[in-house]
Amino acid sequence: MRKIVIAGNWKMFKTQAESQEFLQGFLPYLEETPQEREILLCPPFTNLNILSKSLHGSRVQLGAQNVHWEENGAYTGEISSPMLTEIGVRYVIVGHSERRQYFGETNLSVNLRLKAAQKHGLTPILCVGETKQQRDEGETESLIISQLNQGLVNVDQDNLVIAYEPIWAIGTGDTCEATEANRVIGLIRSQLSNPNVSIQYGGSVKPNNIDEIMAQPEIDGALVGGASLEPESFARIVNYN
Ligand code: PEP
Repeated sequence: MRKIVIAGNWKMFKTQAESQEFLQGFLPYLEETPQEREILLCPPFTNLNILSKSLHGSRVQLGAQNVHWEENGAYTGEISSPMLTEIGVRYVIVGHSERRQYFGETNLSVNLRLKAAQKHGLTPILCVGETKQQRDEGETESLIISQLNQGLVNVDQDNLVIAYEPIWAIGTGDTCEATEANRVIGLIRSQLSNPNVSIQYGGSVKPNNIDEIMAQPEIDGALVGGASLEPESFARIVNYN
């Protein structure tokens, strides 16, 4: 059974106080949310502990925005899987395009992070997607297939979410056509050994386009950046029709 997973990626936004304020506005809207939808918040590392306490007993799960492959060691600035699971984190975003673009993540380091997360019981969300130039040059399919082939070596597809995030659509307001996102997600699914992996779309998902996106048969949820920062807009997204 493919699960619907809607995740808010807060990137480098919100202090602890701001994240608490968000919850006060957001949680009441979840009374309308169908039970089978998995709702996640992925705040900065500094907010995970306080949100874990505040979300105790609620249906919102916590995700981190990255994880290192070692359990501990001399890796300044990194966070390990046991550090995340100890405070109740269940999911982790891996290979986000901003990590690949600004921090040198490669398919190889992404693969190491995916395996380490799974070893400790976290569910990784693997992000894949092409640049505008790669799309214009007809490389979308081959690029995504190589991200999957290299990223998923020895990764357990029974505990995995994938997000298709065309880079040109992230933070630009330039959403991928829902039918095109559906096509690429179908291609991603055709490369997997487990047909039940949930595959999200991400890239300028907003209250005014979520219904059309979620109406597509291959799309199992959304990874949402900017529109997850405001309680009302994220609530409209998780309560899509
Ligand atoms: C993201 O951060 O993964 C993302 C899709 O951002 P936005 O929704 O702002 O495009």
